[in-house]
Amino acid sequence: MSYIGPENILSIRQQYFFPATSHFYKNPPQIVKGFMQYLYDQDNKKYTDFYGGVSVMNCGHSNPEIINETAEQLKDLQHTTTLFFTQPMALLAEELAKILPGDIKRTFFCVTGSEANEGAMALARLHTKKNGFIALNGGLHGRTHLTLSVTGIPMWRLDDNLMKDNIFFIDRPYSPDESYEKAMEKSLEQLKKVLEEHGNNIAAMILEPIQGNGGIIMYPLNYLKEVKRLLEKHGVLLIIDEVQTGYGRTGKMFCIEHYDVVPDIIVTAKALGNGIPISTFSTTDEIAQSFNKPSASTFGGNPVAATTALNVLKYIKSHDLISRAEKLGKILKQQLEEIPSPYIQEVRGIGLMIGVQIHAVDENQPSHAITDVILEEMKDLGFLIGKNGLDRDVLAFQPPLVVTEEDINEVVAALKKVLAKLS
Ligand code: PMP
Repeated sequence: MSYIGPENILSIRQQYFFPATSHFYKNPPQIVKGFMQYLYDQDNKKYTDFYGGVSVMNCGHSNPEIINETAEQLKDLQHTTTLFFTQPMALLAEELAKILPGDIKRTFFCVTGSEANEGAMALARLHTKKNGFIALNGGLHGRTHLTLSVTGIPMWRLDDNLMKDNIFFIDRPYSPDESYEKAMEKSLEQLKKVLEEHGNNIAAMILEPIQGNGGIIMYPLNYLKEVKRLLEKHGVLLIIDEVQTGYGRTGKMFCIEHYDVVPDIIVTAKALGNGIPISTFSTTDEIAQSFNKPSASTFGGNPVAATTALNVLKYIKSHDLISRAEKLGKILKQQLEEIPSPYIQEVRGIGLMIGVQIHAVDENQPSHAITDVILEEMKDLGFLIGKNGLDRDVLAFQPPLVVTEEDINEVVAALKKVLAKLS
């Protein structure tokens, strides 16, 4: 295979993509191949992937234990309408019912995270017969009109008067300037106020159990119990967006388990298909009754996607990826915490979803610029890590859950080297 190379790709993107389309790196590689936790560029340079396609590739790139059956399914039956009976989709719904929390056992299949969040919000409106939504500052829920409107990251959010009286933001229980407890108190006070004033018009609150794009922000463990209690008082549903956190990433099958709370609706996507698009919103018998609209998605849960997802669930179980994420996450977090560097302000997260908050040492160099330098140098050393956060100054470690302790030792050694060079 011959490759056009990164320079030509850049030129085409500049001419034909939307101008706001962004990319990582000053000198980006062209990624041409992946295998498990590794990616390869046009010159066959190998990279250890510590971003995992943003929490998608939990089972590794082109994992033969998953894709061989996907390929077989492609040859046997690629697609038909979901109005016809096919086996993989049915078996997948049955498997999901076994692992979803509480009484949640009914699933609607879609294709992307945004679409599933849209479905979850439509369901909440149909069930409660109310219109509004509460969301958290710093949250991200997708790129469709409504999901952009409940997204609390200023650079993404639609500044949208259309939704003005129906969407209410409250602060997340995190602030770099005060303790988690204090920030949680403030957030809950704001929630109470919104519910008292507008609860009659609010269908649901939507939030991620850990804010991914918002900078890997986990909440105090008792926060969501209190949120759920307040919402219930006002007949408001809780939608948990597990698009980034689901399927083992945080050392639990679903991140919400850390908080010991059962939501009304749970949304999943990304890792379920390990690179093949599939997403879900799931709920209880009672709430599912309210979804009384014609209900078929063209591609949601098609045979290829559902076969892949079934093998993803099987692989997570048979290779014990959940405890692996927990164990390796602890090792990675501890090693990152032990790096002596004035550029590191905080290490956050759980399982293999770890963020490193970068701090500006010199006022001439803002933290997002330092973050970009670190990403570029890490890439040159053969490690692809992500970035997120409201100021794009958080290094994101969200590797495939098949990474090894050796990969972790290597990425931390490389980061130490890069940080030492900076100072
Ligand atoms: N929710 C969360 C938490 C996400 O991180 C994302 C994507 N980054 C989405 C929803 C949207 O998913 P998609 O891009 O598949 O529409």
